[in-house]
Amino acid sequence: MYMKLKREEILSAIHHCVKCKLCSIASFHPNAEWLPLCPSGQYYGYQAFYAPGKMEIFRAILEGEITEPSDGLLNAVYACTVCGACYEKCKQITNVELGAPDLFEEMRSELASKGWILDAHKSIVDKIKETKNAYGEKYEYKAETTDQNADVMYYIGCTARYRVPEIADAMLGIFDKLGLKYQVMGEEWCCGSVLFRTGQVKAAKELVAHNIEEIRKSGAKTVIFTCPGCLKTFKKNYPDMGVELVHSTQFLTRLGNMNLKKENLKAAYHDPCHLGRDLGIYEEPRAVLSEVANIKKMKREKKQAWCCGSGGGVKSAFDDFALWSAAERLKEVKEAGAEALVSACPFCKRNLKEAAENEELEVYDVVELVNRCLEG
Ligand code: SF4
Ligand code: SF4
Repeated sequence: MYMKLKREEILSAIHHCVKCKLCSIASFHPNAEWLPLCPSGQYYGYQAFYAPGKMEIFRAILEGEITEPSDGLLNAVYACTVCGACYEKCKQITNVELGAPDLFEEMRSELASKGWILDAHKSIVDKIKETKNAYGEKYEYKAETTDQNADVMYYIGCTARYRVPEIADAMLGIFDKLGLKYQVMGEEWCCGSVLFRTGQVKAAKELVAHNIEEIRKSGAKTVIFTCPGCLKTFKKNYPDMGVELVHSTQFLTRLGNMNLKKENLKAAYHDPCHLGRDLGIYEEPRAVLSEVANIKKMKREKKQAWCCGSGGGVKSAFDDFALWSAAERLKEVKEAGAEALVSACPFCKRNLKEAAENEELEVYDVVELVNRCLEG
């Protein structure tokens, strides 16, 4: 469940940062070249956009040195995908867990409580209030429960329902082809991820209560997510519901042999930040993908993966930055000699696909390839 960090804990973490900035570069030795890790700092170039700069801003706010938010300050705070690359890297170097993304979310929550928030993020609250989804869409994605007593529920999520429905279609297609019964929520509401990530925690309360009640009523024992952002939110921001919460790739790995017809496709796997760094799920997506395609390794992967650029409220407020980050990833895909880029997250797919619009490169979610390679 969401816990507010104590002021002393926050300041102690911030004071541990020695501003070395090593958290912005991938490990040098395996690649023998300097590869950036922090999309925010790399794109904007100023110290304030790197992790140590953000920590300094947070300290100055907490200690009362900053009393008015400038546009520049708001940009430095919110143009960060909370990808966690800085946190992982700092941990390797210093052996101290500063918990940067949690601190940054806490900073946003502090700012939001003062009304220092971007209009783009504020408007998401209004959209959710009105439509119960983060995009303000008024239509419903069509999905039907096949058995009201099924142990398994598929939580679809706003992005797969309204922006990349091919992912939800593929997951439902897999269930049907394998003859697996499932439930979907009668009324699925946004999980609240974007609200937690942008510091608008209070507005998420109603969503959390509704979704918990839907799951309780369903009697499902396992909830499956194709969206790592939703999964992270249920795991880290919701109270324990006593049900198992799994990502689609974990669920598919467990099923074992699905008689998939492997394609002759060279595919690079992009680790979604919420799935990899946040939840430690690196192997299952690769195991599933290796059943349907030939994996081409990228230089920055797993804990040191380069973020697709769309998380943490960045896509809605800083689309140019989001697309630039995705385009940087595409360069790496080509370098790896892949003809397709595969992720396991609707948010990643949406942004990477948009950036690849004029490229000869296919972008998929792993469940789409699995569905395609399953005998109908
Ligand atoms: S967060 Fe860690 S790695 Fe980054 S500047 Fe601070 S101490 Fe250095
Ligand atoms: S969370 Fe990601 S984008 Fe934000 S400062 Fe850290 S590395 Fe940079």
